[in-house]
Amino acid sequence: MRITALAGGVGGARFLRGLLGHLDRTPELAGSQVTVVGNTGDDITLFGLRVSPDLDSVLYTLGGGVDEGQGWGRAGESHHLQEELAAYGVQPQWFGLGDRDLGTHVARSLWLGQGQTLSQVTARLAARWGLPERGVTLLPMTDTPVETHVVVEDEQGRRAVHFQEWWVRMHAAVPAQQFVVAGMEGAVPAPGVLEAIREADLVVLPPSNPVVSIGIVLGVPGVRDALRGSRAPVVGVSPIISGSPVRGYADACLAAIGVDASAGAVAGLYADFLDGWLVAEDDLSAARTTLRGAGSSRLTVEGRPLLMSSPQAAADLAGAAVDLGRRLADRRPVA
Ligand code: GDP
Ligand code: CA
Repeated sequence: MRITALAGGVGGARFLRGLLGHLDRTPELAGSQVTVVGNTGDDITLFGLRVSPDLDSVLYTLGGGVDEGQGWGRAGESHHLQEELAAYGVQPQWFGLGDRDLGTHVARSLWLGQGQTLSQVTARLAARWGLPERGVTLLPMTDTPVETHVVVEDEQGRRAVHFQEWWVRMHAAVPAQQFVVAGMEGAVPAPGVLEAIREADLVVLPPSNPVVSIGIVLGVPGVRDALRGSRAPVVGVSPIISGSPVRGYADACLAAIGVDASAGAVAGLYADFLDGWLVAEDDLSAARTTLRGAGSSRLTVEGRPLLMSSPQAAADLAGAAVDLGRRLADRRPVA
């Protein structure tokens, strides 16, 4: 089976690890190929180094190198380099970069500086983490440098800050008025992205942030049209459980675009291409009501345990998404 997933960072990575676990334990899915289209809107240049936080969360989680407690960054991390920079007064200090993690950013920046594309660089990084052996191809959504910026207004006036500054330094506590993705109009999908969507047997949307992860990938010109025209069913998992984003500030992101923090309202953001949607059992009737009201009658909504509290729980969730996709496989009109 060819499975294509759009993904952000921690939520996407944990789901994808569950998906690989499910494929490993399911004999009839042996040999499946997974293509991950990763969000690069979070990318930022710090200390002259190009950092791709969401791609790295996927690499480290699938490669067994992630800090499990945080869900991002490297296990067994130290912070000597950042301590030295702090001693020199080098800014910014609000973004934590560990020494092991910095190795990734130095390698990425070096190879980008030598003229390789982000896709080529990401493939080299993925090789070190063993993704090809597991049947996984990690693609950045685009090789064009793009950056999500957040328009905020506080005592310093109205201005745009980098998404990471809003998320990490401000803890998303200053209301976002708008998200603007610098560079997006001219962005081109990275090689293989549209093909992976068009040629998939199943497209999955992990429970990644619907606005600043999945929403950014969907903004790359051509991606949304490819999903609409895909012959494969598109199945998603709600990142919202009983009105709460589990971790992070997805509720603040949804508020900024005027969408309720509910499982049904998030599905509404994907209504033009979504076929199946998994929500928490407690959210099932409310989600169905919301979606019926929005006229999304072709969408199949089912309730499942949605909390990825362990790799096993994530595998069960991913398995539920794959099963739903297989049941919906014949539902797509021939494009
Ligand atoms: P980020 O880029 O690191 O913020 O990660 P993603 O965008 O991939 O995923 C973040 C989203 O994952 C959050 O908005 C949460 O709503 C969602 N999330 C985190 N843990 C869980 C979980 O256990 N179950 C579900 N359904 N969603 C989760
Ligand atoms: Ca992210």
